[in-house]
Amino acid sequence: MAMAEQPLIACHECDLLQREPHLPKGGVARCRRCGATLFRSHPQSTERALSYTLGALLLFLVANVFPIVSLKLSGDVVQATLIGAAQVMYRDDMALVAGLVLATTFAAPLAQMLAMTYLLLPACFRRRPPHAELVFRTMTLVQPWGMVEVFVLGILVSLVKLAHLAIVVPGIALWSFGGVMMLMAAAAAAFDPRDLWTRLGPPR
Ligand SMILES: [Zn+2]
Repeated sequence: MAMAEQPLIACHECDLLQREPHLPKGGVARCRRCGATLFRSHPQSTERALSYTLGALLLFLVANVFPIVSLKLSGDVVQATLIGAAQVMYRDDMALVAGLVLATTFAAPLAQMLAMTYLLLPACFRRRPPHAELVFRTMTLVQPWGMVEVFVLGILVSLVKLAHLAIVVPGIALWSFGGVMMLMAAAAAAFDPRDLWTRLGPPR
């Protein structure tokens, strides 16, 4: 009676309730009635998403320690880090902009990466961390506010504009932010919530 132990799944298209089939690696489960895709089997999606997330976290650390850009203007060299730039904006009565920059390029991506690690790392060992549902729900709420790619694009545009005024040297942090952007996109692509919840097991 192995079939009877399989959980039930409803088709997104026609609502037919059916038992989940056992899938071979890389296989696709289709609805029995309408043929719509129910889910896909992504082998090792949790391990891959975790590796990309840890890589992104490491680069994120580098991105926030080193300067994004160095400006050479008549002999003076000015270097700016993300936090440093936000501090200057705050001092210059641009508290709202400083807050938005910190929320979208620092707090939201960091919260997302930490939440992913919190869920994915125990999932690799088939353990369920406390408050997994709450962390997952918070992560999906925070996700749209992470805008590293908008930030990187904005920096590139301003670099081109500043090139007329000063010698602009892109810093280590700029490349690191680019890496964070790529790795977070890769983690999001590899992440399979279905596999995550299967590995986390039923609530305790
Ligand atoms: Zn269907």
